[in-house]
Amino acid sequence: MDDIKLSVVVPCYNEVDGLLELHRRVSAVCQANNVEQYELVLVNDGSKDGTWGLMQELSLKDMHVVAVNLSRNHGHQLALSAGLSICRGERIFILDADLQDPPELLPKMMARMDAGADVVYGQRIRREGETVFKKATAYLFYRLLNRMVDIEIPRDTGDFRLMSRRALDVLNSMPEEHRFIRGMVSWVGFHQEPLPYDRAPRFAGETKYPLSKMIRFAVDAITSFSIKPLRISTYIGLLVSVGSLLMMLFVVVGYFRGNTVTGWASMMSVVLFLGGVQLFMIGVVGEYIGRMFMQAKGRPLFIIKDIQRSNGNDV
Ligand code: UDP
Ligand code: MG
Repeated sequence: MDDIKLSVVVPCYNEVDGLLELHRRVSAVCQANNVEQYELVLVNDGSKDGTWGLMQELSLKDMHVVAVNLSRNHGHQLALSAGLSICRGERIFILDADLQDPPELLPKMMARMDAGADVVYGQRIRREGETVFKKATAYLFYRLLNRMVDIEIPRDTGDFRLMSRRALDVLNSMPEEHRFIRGMVSWVGFHQEPLPYDRAPRFAGETKYPLSKMIRFAVDAITSFSIKPLRISTYIGLLVSVGSLLMMLFVVVGYFRGNTVTGWASMMSVVLFLGGVQLFMIGVVGEYIGRMFMQAKGRPLFIIKDIQRSNGNDV
């Protein structure tokens, strides 16, 4: 199995209910399209349910399955990075375990790649079975992101995509810790094409992205692709300084005219406002310093505990 044509890489966190269906559908798609030399790389991201046990079973039964176990929960983007680092295929197909992104789009993506694309990414037209809140925040997120970053990051696009080996090799060589993979792939360049599709509801289980994780993801995305927040801080600082200068002028003139007021309320508002602005700006700067600190440690991005491949005798 040296000459692997396709790697399907799937990060999984507590996905025991959907895994068999995922395996069934991916296998069916590969068979229907005569892709025989493929591997299905399942990455267990420290699940608390029976996900790892089931992955091991699958890898014993099916020689295409590679089961990867991380040492603990690393988060979606790092779990995916782990899978991408060990997969061996000439082409790489990234999927979510919940089957929201249909594996059946593989042949269409393959065809575009045959025609010369290096990356074919799925672009959601509709998202079914998701809350209005999730859709609205996702909508806003992709628009805000594009105002902030200098490269073009496609809108309404997740990690669902087919990549060529040369594009993946560049991605794998990027050592950054706070990974926003869909943006990093855009940054790599080559020839990238969208493929519009309708996003299905989750097959089983529930979303692993609560609001707190979504916010962290958004902050990671913006800070790893843009220093605009720092620039905006400078502008706001400048604006507030000009305001303060005018205020001082007003105060000095008032002093010489002899009508100094006993303005506790206005005094407090100015102090509170300035304090708020300053703390916020320090926070923004801190975000970047914190990221430099984490990156400077140079720790490995993920820790793989076990990799299980069946030795190919048993089918
Ligand atoms: N996931 C993961 N580790 C995590 C959270 C999520 O590996 O800490 C996986 C999850 O199993 C799924 C994918 O990342 O395959 C996307 O997660 P989810 O479907 O919950 O995100 P959503 O589609 O709701 O944005
Ligand atoms: Mg999902």
